[in-house]
Amino acid sequence: MIPGIHASVRGGLDRALDTLNELGLPCGQIFTSNQQQWKGRAIKEREIERYSGRSVTIISHASYLINLASTDRRVVKLSVQALEAELERMHTLEIEWCVLHPGAHLGAGEETGIEKISSMAGKILLNSPADTGILYENTAGQGTTVGHTFWQLAQLLELTDMPARTGICFDTCHAFAAGYDLSSFSAVRETMNRFNDTVGIERIKAFHINDSKRECGSHIDRHAVTGEGLIGLEPLRFLGSMSEFREIPGIAETPGTDRDRAQDIQKVLEF
Ligand SMILES: [Zn+2]
Ligand SMILES: [Zn+2]
Repeated sequence: MIPGIHASVRGGLDRALDTLNELGLPCGQIFTSNQQQWKGRAIKEREIERYSGRSVTIISHASYLINLASTDRRVVKLSVQALEAELERMHTLEIEWCVLHPGAHLGAGEETGIEKISSMAGKILLNSPADTGILYENTAGQGTTVGHTFWQLAQLLELTDMPARTGICFDTCHAFAAGYDLSSFSAVRETMNRFNDTVGIERIKAFHINDSKRECGSHIDRHAVTGEGLIGLEPLRFLGSMSEFREIPGIAETPGTDRDRAQDIQKVLEF
């Protein structure tokens, strides 16, 4: 796995590049716009220059507000616009993948939710720059969120029907909270085998390497510092060392500062 962190963009998107350089990290995840606001952010000329020809791998994380499965038409409309704008910004910044929380069905049912998300994501991708794509992130299954079972992730990919432009961002904390054990070597092996049988291991394009404060199957998403949660350091190291994932980013989204996250990922992946 390629070590990375979720990096702050306070002071500009180029600040994240400086941070990664300072910390010696080959990879990072950023928000290209405020993740809590519908209004997108315009990219500055200076940021475009810095991102073009950069030496580090960057993935983006889409806004937390986006819910293509919403039962509120206004929210769906805003979600489509926000995701299209995200893919445009990614094209400008030469970012291939954005991580997307699939969404919450809000009572309409998981199947309906998955159908809505996939059909809209497919259309959005068709209307967006061809060098960009979406990574559905597995969820903890809090509330009515979908994407907490491997089968649901497989459905999202299949129904979106854009295999070259979709993939999975596998969050270890979310998988554990959703009921997939990762707290021993054999549990990691079994969970990844199950993922491979249901979704296909080659669909994973990024990992979020987070420990979990809450127990396996709790359906509660609380990231813990790596080694201080209920998954533990050794199983995460084992996952990080699997040869299948040699070229795949492993991003720490743990609490604290960029520097804290760099220490957290360093405990799991050598760099
Ligand atoms: Zn995550
Ligand atoms: Zn999370």
